[in-house]
Amino acid sequence: MELRIVAMLALAAITLSAAYAAPPKKKKLLLVSHTAGFRHDEGIAAGEKTLTEIGQVSGVFTLEMCRNADDVKRMLTPEYLNAGKFDGVIFNNTTGDLGIPDLKAFLDWIKGGKAFIGMHAATDTYHGNADYLDLIGDEFLTHGAQCTIEPLVQDAKHPATAQWEKGTKILEEVYIFKHNDRSKVRVLLYLDKNPNDGRPVANQPGDCLIAWCKAHGKGKVFYTAFGHRADVWGNEVVRRHMLGGIRWALGNAKGSAVPGPARP
Ligand SMILES: [Zn+2]
Repeated sequence: MELRIVAMLALAAITLSAAYAAPPKKKKLLLVSHTAGFRHDEGIAAGEKTLTEIGQVSGVFTLEMCRNADDVKRMLTPEYLNAGKFDGVIFNNTTGDLGIPDLKAFLDWIKGGKAFIGMHAATDTYHGNADYLDLIGDEFLTHGAQCTIEPLVQDAKHPATAQWEKGTKILEEVYIFKHNDRSKVRVLLYLDKNPNDGRPVANQPGDCLIAWCKAHGKGKVFYTAFGHRADVWGNEVVRRHMLGGIRWALGNAKGSAVPGPARP
């Protein structure tokens, strides 16, 4: 065969294989919204709708719902999660002691290399449980009246914040955390003053974390305090933030999980 024809055929084969390359495999997440304490009806409903849409439009993940105490007992076990080939879980506005049959086994499942994503009241869950707090990174303390905040981006290279539009203002119920410990988590979004009384950094709690990520063994944890109000779930900037964080936790996008930095 003439060399020129061989070269043309080889080129055609490369072009074809590129065109037919399989898209990245869709990931599967369990969306948990059981509450054993305060129930965020609005945030839970808006979260299910938004996360379903984000998964469909992006093509990144599909969801299965885990909505009540019976679902938790049946689904939040390594056996169920492995059998269903789940890549991780999202805790959407969970509260209190969820009744996970073997919490340590579940946390070990995450540690083995799965994604854990927490929205809003996920930090109002399993209070005082050191193992769960070690997973999620901080604990809800209190909140004041809903107010408008302008979050500051700490890590502009992270997929959760790379597309955050500077100056975005959001009306939300803003959580104040117990520790705001920057040595435990990688800060993605924060406020340099208390959202409700405007106290500056020098006065605690002036450094208010809003979103962060961290490693948990081989697993990846992404948490955002957004998710109380339905219109926050509908905010395009917040939706991109959530999708970026989910893609990172699933290993579909790269970003650092090194704790810090120290308070600016
Ligand atoms: Zn709330």
